[in-house]
Amino acid sequence: MIKDACGVVGLYSDRDVSSRLCNSLIALQHRGQESAGIAVFDETVKGKINLHKSMGLVPEVFNQTILKGLKGDVGIGHVRYSTAGESIPANSQPYLAKDPGFAIAMNGNIPNYQELKRTMSNSTFDTTSDLELVAHLLTAALKEKSDWFKAIEDTMEKLVGAYTLVILTEKGELIAVRGPLGIRPLCLGRIDETYVIASETSALDSLRARLIRDVEPGEVVLIDERGLQTRLLDLRPHAHCMFEWVYFARADSVVEGISVHAVRERLGRNLAREHPVDCDIVIPVPDSGRSAASGFAMESGKPLLEGFIKNRYLGRTFIMPHQNEREEHLKFNPIKTVVKGKRVVLVDDSIVRGTTLPKLVHLLKSAGSREVHVRISCPPIRSPCLYGIDFPTFEELIASEKSVSEIREKVKADSLVYQTVDGLIEAIGLPREELCLACLTGKYPTRFGDIGLEQLREICGRTGGKG
Ligand code: SF4
Repeated sequence: MIKDACGVVGLYSDRDVSSRLCNSLIALQHRGQESAGIAVFDETVKGKINLHKSMGLVPEVFNQTILKGLKGDVGIGHVRYSTAGESIPANSQPYLAKDPGFAIAMNGNIPNYQELKRTMSNSTFDTTSDLELVAHLLTAALKEKSDWFKAIEDTMEKLVGAYTLVILTEKGELIAVRGPLGIRPLCLGRIDETYVIASETSALDSLRARLIRDVEPGEVVLIDERGLQTRLLDLRPHAHCMFEWVYFARADSVVEGISVHAVRERLGRNLAREHPVDCDIVIPVPDSGRSAASGFAMESGKPLLEGFIKNRYLGRTFIMPHQNEREEHLKFNPIKTVVKGKRVVLVDDSIVRGTTLPKLVHLLKSAGSREVHVRISCPPIRSPCLYGIDFPTFEELIASEKSVSEIREKVKADSLVYQTVDGLIEAIGLPREELCLACLTGKYPTRFGDIGLEQLREICGRTGGKG
């Protein structure tokens, strides 16, 4: 299972926001399941920000009593999965900064975290997350500039990597920031008198808010009683993460104006067109392969069937102490009446470590499938991600170490085919130079592209190695 880094949301409204923040966090739960938090601006006490955060899923962290206690018309929320910093309560978000007071939450990863931290020997760090570093940088810049736009511009110049931020100030302003490369998504929506900022449009939909537009890479949006002010502070070339479309974002979300489900369907169609195979049925790996499998089935004219039942009650498998407890047969069970005697095409989004797929192929063959042909909608993932996605180190990435035919042998599939990088770019529909493809090509869009393998490994020790 691959885990994403986080999801953020912010609401500026004319009535209480905490219940709606909670609902929108549930719509972003797929982006992080370790902890959740909400901070709201309390206008009854000057400069007071109320915060509640804890480890757990959103419905475990919040109940009606807690939400009633979080009174305020402006607020931000966060769901977290740690790719940098430990999975401990202190690292849950939003983070509360003092003097000046503000609450801040982030999605992304800052690869130059250690380098920047070394320059801040006068600051005391209470957490091990990148976010506190960003908060300290902002605090220092605000003391000099006392203007949010200027302070953010100053901070942006120092940060390398991928980030989106939502900030709630002690004056009740809501600020949204998207890092200059636009690696992580962020969108702006509205319903009635309420502005909504969110990592994905699925959160807007949960509130029935209308999508106005994506926040531009390098843009800062500030919302207060005067309305919405915006500044484009950095005009570097964009590098949108291709994996948001392939896997991370929810299929019903729209990223950069492009439907995630439609991209996945096109990826499946590409595979069927480029690598046709004589088969009886097409089945997805639930749930990650579903949209691509439907594209493959439509293009090949073969029936799309459910071949596996996924047990949805296992909970968060990464908290299980022993690898054995993650055994796939607990999670997936083949439907024998569907797959027995059939030539099956099994479609999934990606192969990371290559530990799950051999078990699924084995399960299908044990259930009587005559042939199992694997089709993967993402090209081989060969390099770690520096920008907040929980891919492991080089050694653990199966495609970094093995050729496609060696992977097919390990998986014991009758055939195994990956998407090509060109096919992926065509399915997304953005120019190649506007996409981050670093985990496929090894060409990183930030200055860490120039460093040596050893140093990259060192950095990836911080960003990967879990999951
Ligand atoms: S390295 Fe891969 S997963 Fe990470 S941001 Fe780039 S495309 Fe996305």
